[in-house]
Amino acid sequence: MALGEHRDNLLGLNREELENLAVSFGQPRYRGRQLYHGIYARRVREFSGLTDLRGDFRDALAARHAILYPQVEREFSSRDGAVRYLFRLHDGNLVETVYMPEEERTTLCLSSQVGCALDCRFCFTALLGSKRNLTAGEILGQVLAVAAGQNVARGARLNLVFMGMGEPLLNLPQVSKAVGILADREGVGVPLRRITLSTVGILPRIEELARKPGRPKLAISLNASHDEQRSALMPINKKYPLADLLRVCRAYPLRPWEHLTFEYVLLDGFNDADADARRVADLLRGLRAKVNLIPYNSGPELPFRAPPFERVVAFQNILTDRYIPAFIRISRGQDIRAACGQLSLEGLNCKSPSAWVAEDRG
Ligand code: SAH
Repeated sequence: MALGEHRDNLLGLNREELENLAVSFGQPRYRGRQLYHGIYARRVREFSGLTDLRGDFRDALAARHAILYPQVEREFSSRDGAVRYLFRLHDGNLVETVYMPEEERTTLCLSSQVGCALDCRFCFTALLGSKRNLTAGEILGQVLAVAAGQNVARGARLNLVFMGMGEPLLNLPQVSKAVGILADREGVGVPLRRITLSTVGILPRIEELARKPGRPKLAISLNASHDEQRSALMPINKKYPLADLLRVCRAYPLRPWEHLTFEYVLLDGFNDADADARRVADLLRGLRAKVNLIPYNSGPELPFRAPPFERVVAFQNILTDRYIPAFIRISRGQDIRAACGQLSLEGLNCKSPSAWVAEDRG
């Protein structure tokens, strides 16, 4: 039996919940705030490390609670420094997180759900089907477990992107709760402007997100230049077609420092023609936005391929000639792609590493 299995995990509780917990132990509320700071800012994993709490309170906590990170099932290291983590959750489900170090910053690509319901035709997570939402604790656990494994210091420049498994806007309550703790200076301490949520475009949820003061940045998976093409790739487009998506994007209240990001996965012979690029420029005209072009990361289970690199550059040039900032997202961890095949042999499917794209430096 894994350590602490009989004890409730405190990971995922916010400040108020930990204050209430302290009170339930007969302690003043501020003891809960110390607990919060210890778990998320100091990243303490044993109650004995919470030296600012009284010994009897620590013992009482330890009898009933634990601070549990998800268990590392497997780890795949790339020559370029990227590391893909496969985490085992308490119920046996598996999720992936990718660590991508760069010279001046590090990006973590987080999962928001086990599997995904949206069935995008090119996506490996879609092959898993929809399993369940992650809890805020499981989202925070990905960050803290990777930070611990890679010795990412507090204060290191960290970017967090919800571009792993799942659709974050279909798990908005838990994603928001996790983001609140991640972005809190007394919590994990990653500024909101370094946290990006990527969505297929669940329109009512984008509108809900727009009303949240503590919202992260927004990226939208466009992936196509017209409705017929997008519906063929992303069934959700039948429910929320492009005109509606762009209308909601135009109404989205951007903060002064913010822009929208549109992701465009380039699929050879499918959405990579000059005419597609021109249509994308028309769709995005006038928006404060940039495009991340992602050459498809292929795998044996699905028929799509990446276009030749010249095509990717030509597509980018058409956009930039039309004053749409466009960046090519170079895939990280190409050499650990083989591991994806391995995983799927075991009945698991995972997204290939380029799905976890780092934000560009601009
Ligand atoms: N559901 C959310 C977040 C997860 S997917 C969304 O769709 O945005 C994150 C990004 O990875 C999306 O832009 C998606 O289009 C892209 N993606 C998925 N599979 C990919 C693959 N095999 N190669 C390249 N990009 C991929």
